[in-house]
Amino acid sequence: MKEGFLLVISGPAGTGKGTVCNALLEKDKDIMFSVSSTTRLPREGEVDGVNYNFITKEIFEKMVEADKFLEHAYVHTNYYGTSEESVMKGVADGKVVLLEIDVQGALQVKEKHPEVVTIFLLPPSMEELERRIVDRNTETEEEINKRMENAYKEISLVSKYDYYVVNDDLDIAINEIESIVKAEKLRVKRNPKIEDYILEKGGN
Ligand code: ADP
Ligand code: 5GP
Repeated sequence: MKEGFLLVISGPAGTGKGTVCNALLEKDKDIMFSVSSTTRLPREGEVDGVNYNFITKEIFEKMVEADKFLEHAYVHTNYYGTSEESVMKGVADGKVVLLEIDVQGALQVKEKHPEVVTIFLLPPSMEELERRIVDRNTETEEEINKRMENAYKEISLVSKYDYYVVNDDLDIAINEIESIVKAEKLRVKRNPKIEDYILEKGGN
């Protein structure tokens, strides 16, 4: 069986990462979502173990000490981290393991696993980004201002990523990410036995 790979999607809050990731998970059963751990409180409708593992700061710190995280970061006043064990198991099982994480985390993953595929999801404009965060109605005004401030810093790091996708029309954005995934699945280095597979089929 061929190995899978890590796929990181980052982008400022409100760009549409969650929306795009849900659509990808529906469409491609090879994709597995990496459920992060966070010290943030659940939002309405969020389910523990599905959207995030919601844990206390004390438990988070213990996990950092025990080196359980592939990457972790402090984002908008909360801690977030990716379990090394579960994502590497996904890769070994041939999955495309989707990490929806921030820029700091993405750079840590790239450092440890240079073969990771990183995509930066951009909003069509800063005005539209603010509109989406406001309309989503999940943050206070202070939190919205903090997210907009961070958005400018995050976007300035797009050059560190392999790909960018602009989430203007949702279907086009999803389609572009699917194309990236399809192309990455066909990299020769990810299919080292492809030659044997064809040659074993025989011929003259
Ligand atoms: P993120 O996970 O990046 O914080 P969300 O997926 O929660 O962002 O999306 C933020 C808001 O923008 C949601 O209300 C979502 O329905 C909306 N949204 C997402 N993609 C688009 C799009 N292409 N066009 C218009 N609205 C969108
Ligand atoms: P939210 O609280 O809105 O779900 O996420 C806030 C930010 O944290 C987003 O930019 C999201 O991508 C990022 N994030 C979510 N999980 C992780 C994680 O495990 N690691 C890192 N570094 N960032 C994460």
